[in-house]
Amino acid sequence: MNSQEIIRQIRQIKEEKNAVVLAHYYMSPELQITADKGGVADFIGDSLGLSVEAARVQAENIVFCGVRFMAETAKILNPKKRVFLPDMDAGCSLASSITAEDICELRRKYPGVPIIAYVNTYAETKAECDICCTSRNALAIAQSFDADTLIFVPDIYMGQNLQQNIETQTGKKLILWDGKCEVHEQFTGDSMEMMQILNPEAEMLMHWEVPKETVNSSFGRSKGVLGSTNDILHYVGESKAQKFILASECDLGATLKGMYPEREFITPCFKCPYMKKINLENTLAALRSIGTDNADRFEIILPEDIMQRALTPIKRMLEFA
Ligand code: SF4
Repeated sequence: MNSQEIIRQIRQIKEEKNAVVLAHYYMSPELQITADKGGVADFIGDSLGLSVEAARVQAENIVFCGVRFMAETAKILNPKKRVFLPDMDAGCSLASSITAEDICELRRKYPGVPIIAYVNTYAETKAECDICCTSRNALAIAQSFDADTLIFVPDIYMGQNLQQNIETQTGKKLILWDGKCEVHEQFTGDSMEMMQILNPEAEMLMHWEVPKETVNSSFGRSKGVLGSTNDILHYVGESKAQKFILASECDLGATLKGMYPEREFITPCFKCPYMKKINLENTLAALRSIGTDNADRFEIILPEDIMQRALTPIKRMLEFA
């Protein structure tokens, strides 16, 4: 079946099964075309945008084109709805770097220190934390605590980047975990320098998950933005530059090009192997499974008590949306 036929069938089955498709910006371009433009996605966004949208969804069924921790968040926010992930192996190196038991161990080691969990964690881990955050609201959330020491898990690179800002602005200390995004850690200072030499007029677009050393050396040479996916999209809209070097997931370049076709985006193309597990074919298969015996293969099922305990830190995070 060709892509156009799969898209036609997805659109038809969404209607028949009262389902919506939510898609992350890191999806391949064919999944990022929205339904009003002839595609399949009812909403595209970053982690925070998708969490907010998941909380508003009216349809009975949500097919989540993203990775597992995101689909779990959608389920926790919509316990009465059914949430489907087209491939249960769509994981995340950050989410798998820390467990609920690790959080309990941190509590024993640092009693009374608030624990902030990046939303890139599994439900059992979130359930043990005080508040969640995304790359968009992490700084505001860290600044909102009175405590002079905070624990931030699991992304060490994002934690170090936050630490630089927080320590300068508030004097607060962050205790970090050693998790890494295997996509963003590939952006090295050397590779960025080569790109900057070749494109001296370009501005930098860097995600919080890029290593601190790369961030510091790159911004020593060029101006630009360090922030969340949403910050990056917004920055390009405000900037007068024509050319940008993107240090984030490769397919965000396609999103940017679609939004700003007259600008040029240069990126070493590092793709997230987990996000790329999701495609048109398995999205159609997940939709078809709704209401059949095959649904178990795709449906997110979480223990009731975990959902209830994980809801509190997620809801606190949404107060900063
Ligand atoms: S890009 Fe990195 S943080 Fe995002 S899902 Fe992939 S591995 Fe996880």
